[in-house]
Amino acid sequence: METKSVTSTPSNFIKNIVIEDLKTGKVSQVVTRFPPEPNGYLHIGHAKSICLNFELADEFKGLTNLRFDDTNPVKEDTEYVESIKADVAWLGFQWDGLFFASDYFEEMYKRALVLIRKGLAYVDDQTADQIREARGTLTQPGTNSPHRDRSVEENVSLFERMRAGEFKDGERVLRAKIDMSSPNINFRDPILYRVVHAHHHNTGDTWCIYPMYAFAHPIEDAIEGVTHSICTLEFEDQRPFYDWVIRECEMPNVPRQYEFARLNITNTVMSKRKLKQLVDEKAVDGWDDPRMPTISGLRRRGFTPEAIRNFAREIGVARSNSTVDAKMLDHFIREDLKLKALRTMGVLNPLKVVITNYPEDQVEMLEAENNSENPEMGNRQIPFSREIYIEQDDFMENPPNKYFRLFPGNEVRLKHAYFIKCNDFVKDENGKVVELHCTYDVETKSGSGFTGRKVKGTIHWVDAKSAVPAEFRLYEPLILDDSEDENATFLENLNPNSLQIVQGFVEDNMKQAKPLDKFQFFRHGYFNVDPKHTTSEQLVFNLIVSLKSSFEV
Ligand code: ATP
Ligand code: MG
Repeated sequence: METKSVTSTPSNFIKNIVIEDLKTGKVSQVVTRFPPEPNGYLHIGHAKSICLNFELADEFKGLTNLRFDDTNPVKEDTEYVESIKADVAWLGFQWDGLFFASDYFEEMYKRALVLIRKGLAYVDDQTADQIREARGTLTQPGTNSPHRDRSVEENVSLFERMRAGEFKDGERVLRAKIDMSSPNINFRDPILYRVVHAHHHNTGDTWCIYPMYAFAHPIEDAIEGVTHSICTLEFEDQRPFYDWVIRECEMPNVPRQYEFARLNITNTVMSKRKLKQLVDEKAVDGWDDPRMPTISGLRRRGFTPEAIRNFAREIGVARSNSTVDAKMLDHFIREDLKLKALRTMGVLNPLKVVITNYPEDQVEMLEAENNSENPEMGNRQIPFSREIYIEQDDFMENPPNKYFRLFPGNEVRLKHAYFIKCNDFVKDENGKVVELHCTYDVETKSGSGFTGRKVKGTIHWVDAKSAVPAEFRLYEPLILDDSEDENATFLENLNPNSLQIVQGFVEDNMKQAKPLDKFQFFRHGYFNVDPKHTTSEQLVFNLIVSLKSSFEV
């Protein structure tokens, strides 16, 4: 058996199991699946699972299915189905089979009947509360339901009547008949089916009974011939029941479940339920708000599939839970864009500068490299004339020590242009500085080899006449601290400064920028052209990540 990797991903315990299973012939082809419930948009945690499942199968010439685990009609929606497909494809993965768990409802029903006929399942009339109370605790065994010993015939008949719609929601459930005193609570007669009179996004009104996740999932895996069913650690205690379902339902294929640690990231809400709350309460601008850790939010923010995949690889696959620093994700997008993104100048909070000794009607074109670390990206021409914009922060009337930017009497370098010296400034009626008067030195032109004198500060600018107005959206984490996990009131913990909108200007060649184009603005960081708010009249840039990094892998 050929077990050599096609492309090599880092080693991990699940990959080692796969290698072993192929070597011993336990499986002949790896089949994995990514099984989201279509009850929300995918987040970066799902991306970890997607990368793991698809890359593992790819590496060993196996198959990966995208399967919608849509067994709960109340919360599911086709909007989510479509967004999930789009996100998986955008991440760069092509599924082999596209399935819906709901397509297997008839098969699941038949398998439930197999259990009933074997005396391994019964219909219970107890209420949800009664069932919960009778379940016992970790230290106390549960007690048997008074309906536990119904005959097979009666159970078959009641289950058929459940399906026929004769009972109201919650009136009857089908339960497995295993062991109410099992040390594993999942074996204490778990519920297999419940009555839910609700419209299903895929099966419409065909069904009014729906299988529970723990019963449905192993059957779904077995029907598809999944070999390695990978899930997160919370399901570890479910594994014995997973195996029980496969065995007792007499499924022809035997998938195996393996658990890995879910991804947690600092200052990041990582649960569809909570993310939905943010959307529903309008705390954010939809599921794809650039502050959201959803795949669609990260895309709109400016993250690339490559950065996300590299991040997923780096964090690895382990069996112990941990929290990853959000800076690590930032690191991977910087790495990805470093040599790809055009480096250009954008001025936030502009301040006009008049270069008083520059000829009034003159415009000259200056040569600027597109990416100083990647000469292959070539050069561009940028206009320079008598009036330019710099940033308000790059001037101070009374600077502190070690302020090397503009102040009265000081000289700085304009990136790609000349040295300018500040001689005077104009204030408005409120005392705010609104214009600087500077002079330039023609000798100091960038690239001329001028060595006459040195200046300590280099600032960026744009030519006033040709500059294109732009809006910059600057982001900080949505939540302030990491207490979100057990904290039901995380909505009160939102960062009031998570979005800041600033106006400014960009170089005139940015007129051609298209949605999702990415740039590095000199001294600021990486920005993405926002696909939602950018129009033919207004460019809007999302800050992806600043240039500074304190994280090194
Ligand atoms: P959430 O709690 O955010 O709703 P979920 O686990 O309920 O997540 P599913 O749609 O059931 O969401 O998940 C699909 C797959 O993604 C599952 O196999 C699940 O284990 C995996 N997954 C979900 N969240 C994470 C995470 N944070 N890290 C790694 N894998 C995850
Ligand atoms: Mg779930």
